[in-house]
Amino acid sequence: MPSANILILYTGGTIGMGHEIAGDSSSPLIPQGWEFLQSAMPALSANGFFTKENGISFTYKSFDNVIDSSEFNPGHWRQILDILSENYDSFNGFIVIHGTDTMAYTASALSFALQNLGKPVVLTGSQLPIFHPRTDAISNLSNAIHIAAAKVFNLPIIPEVVICFNDKLLRGNRATKSSSKDFSGFESPSYPALGSLEQSIKINDEYILKIPTGPFSIKSHFETNIIIMTLFPGFNPDILSLLANDHSLKGVILRTFGSGNAPSSEAFINAIQLLVEKGKTILNISQCQEGFVNMKTYKTGNNLYKCGVISGADMTLEAATVKMMWLLANEELKDVSLVIGGNLRGEISEN
Ligand code: ASP
Repeated sequence: MPSANILILYTGGTIGMGHEIAGDSSSPLIPQGWEFLQSAMPALSANGFFTKENGISFTYKSFDNVIDSSEFNPGHWRQILDILSENYDSFNGFIVIHGTDTMAYTASALSFALQNLGKPVVLTGSQLPIFHPRTDAISNLSNAIHIAAAKVFNLPIIPEVVICFNDKLLRGNRATKSSSKDFSGFESPSYPALGSLEQSIKINDEYILKIPTGPFSIKSHFETNIIIMTLFPGFNPDILSLLANDHSLKGVILRTFGSGNAPSSEAFINAIQLLVEKGKTILNISQCQEGFVNMKTYKTGNNLYKCGVISGADMTLEAATVKMMWLLANEELKDVSLVIGGNLRGEISEN
């Protein structure tokens, strides 16, 4: 029987939360330590099902302070990346237990920062805490173990950062949190699911990235001086002009209408032009969940293209944001504009 070494890293999230005041279900949920989580899932213990029946050996690590994922910042991404990089050679796969609120951002961040990733990095969590009688935590964790320890279950090795949630396996940088209440909490609006986990597990090989040939490495810096601007009818372009003069600002994610369209008033176009002249990278992504930016379709989009705005094609907001943060922090990439619209980790379809 093939065996596998799996590293489980617990960062927090609903999955391991309990009520602030024990026994008072009206008190808010707060993260609890790893022991709380593990005690509710005996299958994970040394004598548990996965070790006894499947020969999987688990190593557990936890953030010193486990958190609600709304508290995440790039420092937390770096903590995960350091642990992954220190342990990369010793494990067959990795599970990151994470809150659902910012899971898609972390998945995107890891996907860019981990270069030449040849092993599965599986993010999961749950909508209901593990202590809840109807929790989705057990099945989500169990599914994540199957993907991380692929060879034990005769499944293909997925050399990607993925989100395994409910019955779906999604590319991390294509996923978005779509529901705060349904067990099916994540969607991949512009890229097919990598697999489904029903009674049997089906992996869609044709959508999985190839195992890379280069050496594994990490680049874990992220620029935080960027902003996301959502357009709406009546948007005041003066706000963009003010931003253009902010020296610390490096980039703008512009959430436009439809296929990448925006007002064509002189004031709006001048403001965009000023931002570009001041060296800010501007990435155009659509407010439509299944949007594909094409700035050649309408005059209202074409104006942006002529100003030097870059198409984010079908990237999710999470992937676009984190990609910009990551590229802007890479000093050796002199012109972010040349690479941000291209495909790095399967996060974008070709324009
Ligand atoms: N607020 C929680 C978190 O993101 C929500 C969850 O895990 O479902 O940590």
